[in-house]
Amino acid sequence: MIALEIVAGLVLGYVVGSCIESALHEYVPDAGPRLLAVWRRHPRLCRRLLEAHFSHHVIHHQTFRDHVTQFASPQHRARLEALLRQRGRHGRTILRNRFSDRLHDESVPAFCLPWVVAGLAIALLAPTAMALAATVTLTLPGLFSHYIHPYMHRPFADGQREAPRWLAAFLRSRYMRMAYRNHFLHHRFGGTGNFNLVLGGDWLRGRLRRAGDDDRRAMHAAGLPVD
Ligand SMILES: [Zn+2]
Ligand SMILES: [Zn+2]
Repeated sequence: MIALEIVAGLVLGYVVGSCIESALHEYVPDAGPRLLAVWRRHPRLCRRLLEAHFSHHVIHHQTFRDHVTQFASPQHRARLEALLRQRGRHGRTILRNRFSDRLHDESVPAFCLPWVVAGLAIALLAPTAMALAATVTLTLPGLFSHYIHPYMHRPFADGQREAPRWLAAFLRSRYMRMAYRNHFLHHRFGGTGNFNLVLGGDWLRGRLRRAGDDDRRAMHAAGLPVD
């Protein structure tokens, strides 16, 4: 019975966590113009939301040329570095986190809040073993954002060479090959779909777009796993 509760908890935490990741990514870091207009009318109240959008949608999304090459030239990088230094605390945070290549250390408490709320709700409603197991899988989106996402912007072979052996084995699993493709398409479609690193939520939310022949060719050219 306990084993069943643990399995149910792991699945529940995974599904809820993946759906939160997909929705949050769509409506905060890749928020559309209408939401942005509302936030800009209340800049102090919405400062963290505006910062999340700037570091992700402007800096992270718009500095990649082909998903694995960032910046058009060393001069482009130097110009952006100078600009970010002038931007104060948030600019320095972006630089410290390699142009928002990973979840900012400083943003962990705010970023994790929705998953913590989900964990508390599960803890209130579910048996203890199930709730504890759900907590484990609810941490996946945060861990993937910080530790896995940087590899998704490297050619696959580089990640295989540079990651620790256990992580390299995970990166070449069927699941992670799908995650690589999903993230490539997320960038290719300008942050309008395929939001998950932890797969499943996009599919449940109807935000999954499939790769066409052109997308596959571009993926192959960038050194990413096509199949
Ligand atoms: Zn990315
Ligand atoms: Zn995005």
